[in-house]
Amino acid sequence: MSLAPLDSTKLKITRVQTPSKPRPNEELVFGKTFTDHMLTIQWDATKGWYDPEIKPYAPFTLDPSSIVFHYAFELFEGLKAYRTADNKITMFRPDMNMRRMNKSASRICLPNFDSDELIKMIGTLIEQDKHLVPEGNGYSLYIRPTMIGTDAGLGVSVPSKAMIFVILSPVGPYYPTGFKAVKLEATDYAVRAWPGGCGDKKLGANYAPCVLPQSQAASRGYQQNLWLFGPEKNITEVGTMNAFFVLKDTNTGKKEITTAPLDGTILEGVTRDSILTLARERLDPKEWIINERYCSIKEIAEASEKGNLVEAFGAGTAAVVSPIKEIGWNDQHINVPLLPGEQSGPLTKEIASWISDIQYGRVQHSNWVKVVADLN
Ligand SMILES: *Cc1c(COP(=O)(O)O)cnc(C)c1O
Repeated sequence: MSLAPLDSTKLKITRVQTPSKPRPNEELVFGKTFTDHMLTIQWDATKGWYDPEIKPYAPFTLDPSSIVFHYAFELFEGLKAYRTADNKITMFRPDMNMRRMNKSASRICLPNFDSDELIKMIGTLIEQDKHLVPEGNGYSLYIRPTMIGTDAGLGVSVPSKAMIFVILSPVGPYYPTGFKAVKLEATDYAVRAWPGGCGDKKLGANYAPCVLPQSQAASRGYQQNLWLFGPEKNITEVGTMNAFFVLKDTNTGKKEITTAPLDGTILEGVTRDSILTLARERLDPKEWIINERYCSIKEIAEASEKGNLVEAFGAGTAAVVSPIKEIGWNDQHINVPLLPGEQSGPLTKEIASWISDIQYGRVQHSNWVKVVADLN
């Protein structure tokens, strides 16, 4: 018997009796409240994908021996839908998230699926709750696709049952009152990801162990960890974002944008890719160099001493960019320049507006935007 592919034409929709009212924008807290509906899809190794369903948001029941609870067969994605200037609801580069979700699934022996079919079903889910997509710059609907292994039983083995579920959370801007630059602790006593590991996959198991080092850094006055790796103390990522540094290149007098290469320890951020693509398209190569290369904390400390550290920021879906103002490294305080009286450098600010202009439909960019609903 051949296995059933993911098929959006089989989607069954059960709507809530009374749709909820949108909350005022100022009450939206990231990931605290969810919309009226969720999407669930089942998988079985003998049948394939079955029972795709949109239904009222509610708890679900799983056997306590389910493989997800014991051995962390879980992976997730994070992307957003936006209400655009011309009153459409769109998703930003969902194909990138679906490709990454399939890669995460493969790494922990969970099933793959047809990306376009899941994008269609997520689109239909958002349509059910389109009145809950908040309006205004910086406001959006956070989309959390998740896959878990659901086999009951304590054996550690390849799951033969799985479920995809997707929930939606209306969210406000990461920085409600404008950028707030962060202080980072360069961390080498704990390691987020390593060669041959799975740090480049969005597996839940990668995140829980990072909360202790984060709270330790917080107790010393730092908001996030700047993750280092190896004897070279290479910078890998910042918290759960990709890290970017801007340095003055003393040989050429140009400015260099650097971020760590995708060597298997770095999460392949959609924001990272969007920034690199736009920087290569839009910045003058006579003035800028764009490099995916290793950059060590020692190099950053030296550049800072010589006045060659220009800017630093994190990049990810939640905040788009998050400016960095200081890095604590042993006894040193590495200061990152900011615009006078502001909380970011000029490039950080420019990149933030490049991306939000595309997300909110003020500027078009090839096929990065997928229309989910037209409210006109
Ligand atoms: C999700 C994530 C990112 C950012 O990815 P985006 O697709 O840009 O949101 C970066 N690093 C880690 C560790 C992540 O989990």
